[in-house]
Amino acid sequence: MAIEQKIRIRVGDGYDVIIGHDLLKDCGKLIRDVMGVRRCVIVADTNVAPLYLEQTAASLEKAGISAGSFIFEAGEEHKNTDTFVKILNALADARLTRSDFVVALGGGVCGDMAGFAAGCYMRGIPFVQIPTTVLSMIDSSVGGKCAVDLPQGKNLAGVFHQPSLVLCDINTLETLSQEIISDGWAEVIKTAVLAGDELYDLLSRDPEDVLVWKVIALCVAYKGGVVERDEKEQGERKLLNLGHTPAHAIEKLSAYTVSHGKAVAIGTAMMARASDRLGWSEVPLSGWIENLLGQFGLPLETSYTPEQMLEAALSDKKRAGNMTSVIIPEAFGRCVIKNVTDDRLLEIFRIGWRQDHGC
Ligand code: NAD
Repeated sequence: MAIEQKIRIRVGDGYDVIIGHDLLKDCGKLIRDVMGVRRCVIVADTNVAPLYLEQTAASLEKAGISAGSFIFEAGEEHKNTDTFVKILNALADARLTRSDFVVALGGGVCGDMAGFAAGCYMRGIPFVQIPTTVLSMIDSSVGGKCAVDLPQGKNLAGVFHQPSLVLCDINTLETLSQEIISDGWAEVIKTAVLAGDELYDLLSRDPEDVLVWKVIALCVAYKGGVVERDEKEQGERKLLNLGHTPAHAIEKLSAYTVSHGKAVAIGTAMMARASDRLGWSEVPLSGWIENLLGQFGLPLETSYTPEQMLEAALSDKKRAGNMTSVIIPEAFGRCVIKNVTDDRLLEIFRIGWRQDHGC
């Protein structure tokens, strides 16, 4: 095991995010140091369980922690109330008490559901996140947002429940498909626009020189800072939704066949183009963003029209009255929240829509 960096997130009782290599085989010791000798249930999906469940359970058992498991069908379509109830039943069948805990081993779908179940079971028991995708390492495992989807929309039922520990084992990323890796990098690039500074500088280098663990650590540190200042998304945390208003519209129009990562890539590029063309950005932003997204094979445009996107955006959670909250990038490291009317939103979509010009 090689620990590269430990980042403290000071929300609630506070917790560490440990980033390193080969952490899984020694995760039992790392978890016992924080949780003590208790019992747990590991929740994993049908893709992750065959790869990492045995090793994780063995390490926990070796550390004296008895570990049961619950496996659910992989995929966003299973992030629903049915699976959520099955997880609760598994925790009850394992007779977990309030002094026991849940381990979420997998991507954001697993972390969101297992965290929600841990947050509700017996009115809340602790949980540990072991994220295994780029997206879940840099985004969903930090910050305590846990939810499931309802037929009416994504993430509509959930709680804020902070984990007690997050273990990011970089080696687990080796078994991901290129497509899932790229989806995660869309959020990394979005974070670089928000954070600027060291993350922006690092990503501006030759890709050969970029250490993945360092990128993950910088993203976690950025998100951790935002969450510490605004845990419940009353203000600054909304910035993390850069590109998400167009992204959610595209996901919805495609009936979720366009992945979240690809939609965020298009959304971030659109907002940067709109900001550049409306004269809101201090320095040109879209060239750097498009170039980097392109390196990861991510799309920069959508064929849905701005009018279709507006229609879809009107049912977005981020709407209050007849205004929509959008995040405007002004410089690398500086984005602002603007509440815009429907007409203004349509103008932003139109102006940012295409790479060559507005429509
Ligand atoms: P995911 O969990 O579905 O994982 C993507 C795919 O990769 C799945 O098929 C999974 O089985 C597979 N997989 C995971 N780890 C693997 C590994 N190491 N090797 C091989 N295959 C592996 O999706 P995701 O992209 O990690 O997360 C998306 C989810 O995260 C969405 O539901 C989204 O709403 C949520 N999310 C939550 C937050 C939050 O703050 N809670 C933030 C962003 C996204």
